Amino acid sequence: MNFADLHLHTVFSDGTYTPLELISESEKVGLSAIAVVDHDTTSGIEPAIEIAKTKNIEVLPGIELSAEYEGLEIHILGYLIDYKHQGLVEKLAILKKNRIERIYKIVEKLKDIGITLDPQSVFDIAKQGTVGRLHIAKALVLEGKVHSLSEAFQKYLGDKCPAFCLGFRFSPREAIKLVKAVGGIPVLAHPYTLNNDALIPLFIDYGLMGLEVYYPEHSQSMINFYLNLARTHDLLVTGGSDFHGDAKPELKLGSLKVPYELVEKLKAAKEKLL
Ligand code: AMP
Ligand code: ZN
Ligand code: FE
Ligand code: FE
Repeated sequence: MNFADLHLHTVFSDGTYTPLELISESEKVGLSAIAVVDHDTTSGIEPAIEIAKTKNIEVLPGIELSAEYEGLEIHILGYLIDYKHQGLVEKLAILKKNRIERIYKIVEKLKDIGITLDPQSVFDIAKQGTVGRLHIAKALVLEGKVHSLSEAFQKYLGDKCPAFCLGFRFSPREAIKLVKAVGGIPVLAHPYTLNNDALIPLFIDYGLMGLEVYYPEHSQSMINFYLNLARTHDLLVTGGSDFHGDAKPELKLGSLKVPYELVEKLKAAKEKLL
């Protein structure tokens, strides 16, 4: 049987693996297909697809869009998107700039509570990637201001913390519509983080087509619950590890594999959209 991991990040957002490293490692752990779904950017897709041409692995284009609904952070995955779509590329360029401005705001907030951090140190960590809180957390660890990434989020960067700054977020409706407008399949990422399953039917009304049922933090009972929900609403099922490389070392590549059959179902759904 062939396996896939449909939720991977690269250096083009807040992962630490280059597309080449990601593909080499994915092959080693026996994956036949991977989806590159960086936060708010498609920049890692083309290099990954090019590299995959010489390898025995398939790369599916994807994205993970950040959305917000009544204070809740919601991530919408877009699978099999037309990642070269001009309108999408332009929109994502604005988001990238927005994320840079947000770093300055967070640095200011940290300063207000007596923690100095050079914004350049954050940009140096992010390199070409869309910069975010994980890069700030890493900078705080490197500067010895906190002991761990999770401490950085708990004390400063998380929701309701003193240096929290939301930054630009789509509404779930906009994120779902954007994915569909570029020929993709919108899927709700890690539904447990919502902590509010009653919202899912609303997102289905907006055009949501799938649930990320298989996810490292989903217990067996959550998996069963979301499988049932997917069946009831005729939704696609996906799954992935949310691998970020060394940025989240507790999460190993190959720790979560889904049957390749789920990829075939995504492709069939896309065919129907065309
Ligand atoms: P951003 O898109 O800049 O808001 O940052 C989101 C990133 O921060 C995602 O990769 C999350 O997985 C990560 N993140 C959020 N909360 C935590 C946490 N408590 N510990 C580690 N990483 C986190
Ligand atoms: Zn991330
Ligand atoms: Fe996410
Ligand atoms: Fe993710």
